[in-house]
Amino acid sequence: MKAFPFSSLACRPGSSGKQTSANQKVTPGSTGTTGILPYMGVSVSVLASGSRGNSAVVETSKTKILVDAGISCRETFKRMRALGEDSRSLTAILLTHEHTDHVYGLPALARRLRIPVFMTGATHQTWARALRDGEGQLPSLERLEIFSSGKSFQVGDIDVTPFTIPHDAADPVGFTFRSQGVKVGFATDLGYLPASVRDHLRRCEVLVIESNHDLEMLRVGPYPWSVKQRVMSRVGHLSNDALAEFLTNDYDGEAAYVVLAHLSEHNNHPEIARGAAVKALGPRQTLLRNRLMLALQSEALEPIRL
Ligand SMILES: [Zn+2]
Ligand SMILES: [Zn+2]
Repeated sequence: MKAFPFSSLACRPGSSGKQTSANQKVTPGSTGTTGILPYMGVSVSVLASGSRGNSAVVETSKTKILVDAGISCRETFKRMRALGEDSRSLTAILLTHEHTDHVYGLPALARRLRIPVFMTGATHQTWARALRDGEGQLPSLERLEIFSSGKSFQVGDIDVTPFTIPHDAADPVGFTFRSQGVKVGFATDLGYLPASVRDHLRRCEVLVIESNHDLEMLRVGPYPWSVKQRVMSRVGHLSNDALAEFLTNDYDGEAAYVVLAHLSEHNNHPEIARGAAVKALGPRQTLLRNRLMLALQSEALEPIRL
C-alpha cells in the first residue's frame, strides 16, 4: 500500500468543529452524538448524483475526501454548507474518471482549496487534453497525485482501494474506503458488474451503487439510438434490472445502507428504481440492514453516519 505524505494535511484549525473520543461506541445508522460524546465515526454525504454532476464526501474526524468534482465549486461549497460541513477542511479530491459530470468543478475547486487531487495517469492525460487552451497549453494542477487501479493507498486515516470498472472512459475506477473497521463502496458509471467489482463490494457498510435506467423507459425514451446503445452497452451504465440481479444473486446483504445513485432523469423514475431494489432485497431489508436511499441530482442527501 502506498502511503501519501499527509501529516501536514490534517483539518485546518476550527474547520470541522468536531472533537474526537477514542471510546465512543459506533452503531450503524446512529447519529453518533450519544450524550455529550462528539461524533467520530465514518460518514458519507452524497452531494449530487446523476448525469448533470456527481460529488460525494467520505470523512472521518481527521480526513475529508471529495469523491468526484462534477458540480461547480460554488455549488459544492453551498451543498456542503447546507449539511453543516466546512469545505475548507477537505483533505483531498479523488476522481473516478474524466467525464464532465465527474470533473466539471475540478479546476476551480483545486485552485481554491489547494489540496491534492488524485486520479489515474490515463484519466489525467485525457482530462488535461480536453481542457487544453487555444495555445495548446495543458491545465496544471498544483498538487496532482497519480494512483493505479488495483493499488491501495492512504489518504489521512482512510485506506482507499481503486478498482477498474467497465465504462467508456480512459481508465475508470470505483473506490472502496476503509477506516475504523468500516468499509464504504462506490460503484457508478459501469455497463455491468464483473466478478472483480462484485468482489470489491463485499462487506461494505455503505454501498453507493448505480441504478441508472429502466430498460423500457430507455428504449422508448427521447435519446437518439446511438446514445441508447451506448448507455445499454457493456461500457455504459447499470440498469435497474442489472442492479437487481446483483442484489438478488450475489450481494452479501451486509450493508447498513444501500444508496441508489446516478439515476437517469430521462430514462428512470425514482420509484421504479426503488421498487426494483426493494423487491431484490426482499426480507433482508430491516431496521439495521439494507436501508435504501436514493441519491439526488438537485440536492445533497442527509449524511450517513456510521
Ligand atoms: Zn457519470
Ligand atoms: Zn461516466
